[in-house]
Amino acid sequence: MPLSNSKTSSHCLALESELFEIYNWLDARIAEMGLCCDACGQCCHFDRYGHQLWLTSLELEVLLRDAPASNGPGCPWLCGHSCEARGQRALGCRTFFCKDREQHVTALHEEALDRLRKSAARAGIDLEYEELGASLERLADQGKGS
Ligand code: SF4
Ligand code: SF4
Repeated sequence: MPLSNSKTSSHCLALESELFEIYNWLDARIAEMGLCCDACGQCCHFDRYGHQLWLTSLELEVLLRDAPASNGPGCPWLCGHSCEARGQRALGCRTFFCKDREQHVTALHEEALDRLRKSAARAGIDLEYEELGASLERLADQGKGS
């Protein structure tokens, strides 16, 4: 998918290493909690599942730059039942567990997002937070206009 998130571009990418530190921290916390996902991919079929993925402009930038995206049904990084962007997937992907919607998982997501926002604020960057489909449509429209 020939998309480039020009609204975030290079200045946001300076935060990338901090984003991956947060991803690693989050994954370790989730592993400690023993949360279970069968990796069936159902929740990545957003329309069918009645689900949305919200993410920051930096998370999207990393996804678009480091992983190929498809035009198939569901999330552009879903291939069959598998996520093609496991290493780059967003905070919301890492904290969605259909079998465990307890408050502690939501709190962990909020903590990770807060860490990212604070890092961005220290760097003088105002991260956008947007639903994935809306972000991709906006970027496609920008691409048509350029
Ligand atoms: S969270 Fe649930 S629906 Fe989503 S991939 Fe895991 S088991 Fe499947
Ligand atoms: S990036 Fe991967 S885990 Fe996240 S919604 Fe898309 S396919 Fe699912």
